[in-house]
Amino acid sequence: MSVLVLGGAGYIGSHAVHQLIDQGEEVVVVDNLTTGHRSAIHPQVTFYEGDLRDLDFISSIFAKEKIDAVLHFAANSLVGESMEKPLQYFDNNVYGTQVLLQAMVEANVKYIVFSSTAATYGEPKTVPITENLPTNPTNTYGETKLTMEKMMKWTESAHGIKYVSLRYFNVAGARETAEIGEDHRPETHLVPIILQTALNQREYMTIFGDDYDTPDGTCVRDYVHVEDLIDAHLLALEYLRNNGKSDIFNLGSNQGFSVKEMIETARTVTGKEIPVKIGKRRAGDPSTLIASSEKAKRILGWNPTRTDITKIMEDAWNWHSTHPTGYGKEDEA
Ligand code: UDP
Repeated sequence: MSVLVLGGAGYIGSHAVHQLIDQGEEVVVVDNLTTGHRSAIHPQVTFYEGDLRDLDFISSIFAKEKIDAVLHFAANSLVGESMEKPLQYFDNNVYGTQVLLQAMVEANVKYIVFSSTAATYGEPKTVPITENLPTNPTNTYGETKLTMEKMMKWTESAHGIKYVSLRYFNVAGARETAEIGEDHRPETHLVPIILQTALNQREYMTIFGDDYDTPDGTCVRDYVHVEDLIDAHLLALEYLRNNGKSDIFNLGSNQGFSVKEMIETARTVTGKEIPVKIGKRRAGDPSTLIASSEKAKRILGWNPTRTDITKIMEDAWNWHSTHPTGYGKEDEA
């Protein structure tokens, strides 16, 4: 049997593919290459270029390949963009997942591991955030992911598709060998922007607000190494294949770093100055997001080992400094 990885040419999906192959799984990748990169696709996978919203296309893959489980990374994921283009987010994320689930029902594929987000919680009343806290997204991106989770819940009750939804906090770092890494165009994520500034690709970077109710006034986030994050996906897959019940788990490292602390860490790791300016708050940004990942540790047996923020920054820097143009010009959109 094969695992279908939707979005396997993207940052997180490509890291999942590499670990699945390392574990001896057969992997089929689907990606429309809108934000993914052809060069990030592992040479050992069967690759289909196409869009999740195309039911005939997705159904034809289930008909051709023997797939027992889906890892779903194919979604738009930018908070700022989601506030400007909410309907695009509902179309690609929510409708895309609707089509996927319909194809899974028709093909009798029973397991899905889903990329969700801390943005489903919104501005939490208490930290660290546990999975039983209320969900009140402050941005369209989080709202679409919450809707996709609800869609899976009701699809399970009608059709028996089992799901694990993994609510990511801030994913960063890269595979230790630096053969794949983070390359978004345009880039909006904090760690790559800091490192692009370190590489002099930006004259300066902007801190989005320093008047939040946090110790240094800048937003606090919980950064998790992409390789630790993927470990949890593989455990979730095993859990579902062993008849685990559908559930939702946070994936973070239970520690918060402010934007200013991240910049200081990068200055130490890179030895570069990294000029900054203070700008306005970005719409939709909660002030503090810190996970409790105790449930994933307890039930999935997750044991993140790369939780040191310096290690996360070093692995990200290893990728960025050896790939200053990311996947290169041929991959530009
Ligand atoms: N951020 C910033 N400047 C940037 C990019 C991000 O100050 O150029 C801040 C952003 O406001 C947030 C944090 O860094 O508080 C992490 O943002 P990112 O977009 O990486 O992830 P998100 O938390 O939105 O998922």
